[in-house]
Amino acid sequence: MRQLTRDHARRRELEGLVFDAPQSTRIITIANQKGGVGKTSTTVNLAAALAMGGLSVLVIDMDPQGNASTALGIDHHADVPSMYEVLVESQPLGEVIQRVEEVETLWCAPATIDLSGAEIELVSMVARENRLRGAVRDFLASAEGAEGEGPRHLDYVLIDCPPSLGLLTVNSLVAAREVLIPIQAEYYALEGLTLLLRNIDLMRQHLNPELVVSSILLTMYDARTRLAAQVAEDVRTHFPEQTFATTIPRSVRISEAPSYGQTVLSYDPTSSGALAYRAAAKELTERPVA
Ligand code: ADP
Ligand code: MG
Repeated sequence: MRQLTRDHARRRELEGLVFDAPQSTRIITIANQKGGVGKTSTTVNLAAALAMGGLSVLVIDMDPQGNASTALGIDHHADVPSMYEVLVESQPLGEVIQRVEEVETLWCAPATIDLSGAEIELVSMVARENRLRGAVRDFLASAEGAEGEGPRHLDYVLIDCPPSLGLLTVNSLVAAREVLIPIQAEYYALEGLTLLLRNIDLMRQHLNPELVVSSILLTMYDARTRLAAQVAEDVRTHFPEQTFATTIPRSVRISEAPSYGQTVLSYDPTSSGALAYRAAAKELTERPVA
């Protein structure tokens, strides 16, 4: 009942919402080396929510499994030009970007299974940690005057990472200014976090001095369990500034949407999961990074 009342209030508040555009493109990597914590769901649903709020958004799929590409209904069979070509063969990012059908201003640079080879092929390359950063910068610098169908301007770039701390994740962390960490509200959640934060610190020291953990989002949150509340409290105590007030509830709709090549925002726009991601998107736009 409380959930229903809150959803109703949230729906009214979010209806017809138009988000403020950032002054310059915000590049955000969604990272956590743990699998199954909601990285991909967060990437695609936040991206769709931002785009539905009037912003121009690119999702870069850096996971060879291509889950973000699937969820956005993007063709990513083995022959499609993808992030593999961008990272390993220096193909311009603009040439692999596809428009997402669901929302006018949402775009995706897909991952194919080839990307699994990139992790190894990158090892011997010059400036191997900077490949994605270079590709994104070149694209942003040239997009405005570019021809073809791609976006002319981007407000947000969201990068979906694989569940590891290998070179694909390193490239993603070097390309971004901000990291968003999804945390599943469960017992071991904080243990992996220490390792992730230590790696982010190393990135900052050696490869990307500007990198900040700007956002932490609690996912698969079940308000009925004391454990979830306890984890949330711990996370908020450690990261009072970064942790979103919005939590993403456990919702079957969120897990069903990808099998229809849709985000939960179009699959079931009034579900609690869709509303929560829209509220999280609103928070993101209201927390600019200095
Ligand atoms: P990751 O990218 O970190 O591996 P995913 O976003 O793919 O995590 O989520 C892992 C699984 O959990 C997927 O099957 C996804 O559909 C499901 N899932 C993610 N978020 C939720 C949620 N809020 N409620 C229910 N299921 C979820
Ligand atoms: Mg994933």
